[in-house]
Amino acid sequence: MKIDKAKRLTKLPPYLFAKLNKMKSRLREERKDLIDLGVGDPDLPTPSPIIKRLSQAAENPRNHRYPSYQGLLSFRRAVSQWYQRRFGVGLDPEKEVLTLIGSKEGIAHISLALINPGDIALVPDPAYPVYGAGVIFAGGKSYLLPLRKENHFLPCLEKIDKKVAQRAKILFINYPNNPTGAVTTKDFFQSIVDFAKEFNIVVCHDLAYSEISFDGYSPPSIMEIKRAKEVAIEFHSLSKTFNMTGWRIGFAVGNKAIIETLNEVKTNIDSGVFQAVQEAGIEALRMNEHALKKTQEIYQRRRNILTEGLARINWQIQLPKATFYLWLKIPSRFSSLEFAELLMERCGVIVTPGIGFGSCGEGYIRIALTVSEERLEEAVKRIRADNLISREFLNAKIKCKC
Ligand SMILES: *Cc1c(COP(=O)(O)O)cnc(C)c1O
Repeated sequence: MKIDKAKRLTKLPPYLFAKLNKMKSRLREERKDLIDLGVGDPDLPTPSPIIKRLSQAAENPRNHRYPSYQGLLSFRRAVSQWYQRRFGVGLDPEKEVLTLIGSKEGIAHISLALINPGDIALVPDPAYPVYGAGVIFAGGKSYLLPLRKENHFLPCLEKIDKKVAQRAKILFINYPNNPTGAVTTKDFFQSIVDFAKEFNIVVCHDLAYSEISFDGYSPPSIMEIKRAKEVAIEFHSLSKTFNMTGWRIGFAVGNKAIIETLNEVKTNIDSGVFQAVQEAGIEALRMNEHALKKTQEIYQRRRNILTEGLARINWQIQLPKATFYLWLKIPSRFSSLEFAELLMERCGVIVTPGIGFGSCGEGYIRIALTVSEERLEEAVKRIRADNLISREFLNAKIKCKC
């Protein structure tokens, strides 16, 4: 029987990395030593108090049954306390916090909760691809907001067509930003909240990287803005903060009614997060800042090794204040896919082509700082030793499309 897949699947953007992945498999088979700076998945282990708490909680038969849909109240209380401590924001754990199976799950489902077929969602470009995918699954249309270097990778709200803004139901933003590493200010969040109130738009802020920051910088939450709760929810995740990507736990906070719509979708689709994992999450949220500092220092050193090393071949890199990504302009002679292929084939260094995050990502590659200092030094050495690539940088004018 021929399987006829649903139209919504055919509407997803084409998968561009097939050739790149084939090259990766071939080089692996040839036993080439590959340095993978492609995926945003921490190489560091989950801190041991969190693992211990999971083991204990896993022994308890009470945790072997279906969890509650909204998540353990004790976990949601821990979230609320963490928001108070970290951002000075008060949240009602019963109504303003929802446990998620990783924040990706909630981000994908929020469109099903709010978007009708034909509705418009405002989606940044480049961006974490899940925002747009969720909109497609809900039958909506993404109106793309270009994130340009000249505007510090922030969307230009004034440039959004008024008619589009009036029809838009939902706006996604994400700072500290994946893939650009950009950060923002409370003033910008204030302008987002004002815009959302003017046009009746739900704001979904993705705060996955709030705890991965450098040089003493501390990223704000949109919930710190007065009246943000009238229009916004914020997604958060333990994945990046506590090296827990495999555990699948995150949460959404903010506007009660929005949280409730998301919960309604979820009660019909999933049955929540394993309670033992939520107990481990409580342990994580109660950890002192010392452990976080150590993680930040590790990424900061890695960031410096790479940027200083590549500056020697004139590869100009802006130091990100947060996230574990570097967003690098490449010589305009190459597409981002071509350049990623070149780096893989010639240096055994795997990076993500910017085009994978949207058409405004063209002209860039993303490097994830998720390998050891030693391996980063090796990557720098190989790139510097490669005549073709270093010549390109030493000679080329570097431009980008967006
Ligand atoms: C990693 C990431 C997430 C979510 O991760 P989960 O593991 O699903 O919590 C969300 N947004 C961005 C931008 C990310 O990079």
